[in-house]
Amino acid sequence: SKFKDGLSKTRDNFTGRMNELFAQYRTVDEDFFEELEEILIGADVGVTTVMELVEELEHEARIQNITDTRKLAPVISEKLAAKLEKREDDTRLNVQKDGLTVFLFVGVNGVGKTTTIGKVAHSFKQEGKKVMLAAGDTFRAGAIEQLEVWGERVGVDVIKQQAGSDPAAVMYDAIQSARSRKADILLCDTAGRLQNKVNLMNELEKVKRVISKEIPDAPHEVLLVLDATTGQNALSQAKTFKQVTNISGIVLTKLDGTAKGGIVLAIRNELDVPVKLIGLGEKVEDLQPFDAEQFVYGLFK
Ligand code: GDP
Repeated sequence: SKFKDGLSKTRDNFTGRMNELFAQYRTVDEDFFEELEEILIGADVGVTTVMELVEELEHEARIQNITDTRKLAPVISEKLAAKLEKREDDTRLNVQKDGLTVFLFVGVNGVGKTTTIGKVAHSFKQEGKKVMLAAGDTFRAGAIEQLEVWGERVGVDVIKQQAGSDPAAVMYDAIQSARSRKADILLCDTAGRLQNKVNLMNELEKVKRVISKEIPDAPHEVLLVLDATTGQNALSQAKTFKQVTNISGIVLTKLDGTAKGGIVLAIRNELDVPVKLIGLGEKVEDLQPFDAEQFVYGLFK
């Protein structure tokens, strides 16, 4: 139900337009597909994904001999869902059975990175795990304090150093503290300066190196946080981040704040990275694991 509420803007926009489409066009023809294309692009599904999808639908209509647009409706949702559920997708977070699990969060400022770290900390805490945070964004003024606010809010410790200190040193410290306090999960913030790609790349590589030197398989997730309300911009951010570092999953925030939730499809289809979590509000419990089927069928109800 949280899922449904959070997507209501997208759903109202999308279903409204789809209903108009089916009312206006009864026969499956070129005009129908053109209008469908426009609706999907308007929902931020992304040109590449829309083109693929419409081609598949045209093909499907031809081989199944579908001429009534309403008979094509279920095929549309099926194909949309298939685009989101790619082959080997695993949307579960990689949590270790024993020992310390370390996640890195990357993304530009303002996308909801700190909020997401707070939400993830809360949800692990709910599962009975001991969680700690590492204030690895030592660059942006206020980033450390902001993380501390979240730490207090959810009741978890934050490991920090002074502003301007070496993020890799913060991570090293954080791992030692996490070990001595027998924490299960360490969630690490990082700086998000995409303006200077080379610096960011070096910084993230150094941070990763320090972490994996302490724990060979870590970081166990590198989660890229993207703001759904920025639409195609989020997609281009993701492409740039992929050049900077390996990403294991995407967190798409603020889906509640956009009528263009189709961006999930664009992101999933155009990048080879699964969407693992979605943000559906500002509160600590407004985070959900991403479920492709639920998402697509949520759009049609
Ligand atoms: P950061 O700079 O990336 O760390 O971003 P913050 O975590 O400070 O978030 C920026 C703003 O986005 C804050 O006002 C958050 O409350 C808001 N925010 C974060 N996630 C969500 C979400 O899923 N939905 C909504 N509506 N707001 C969000």
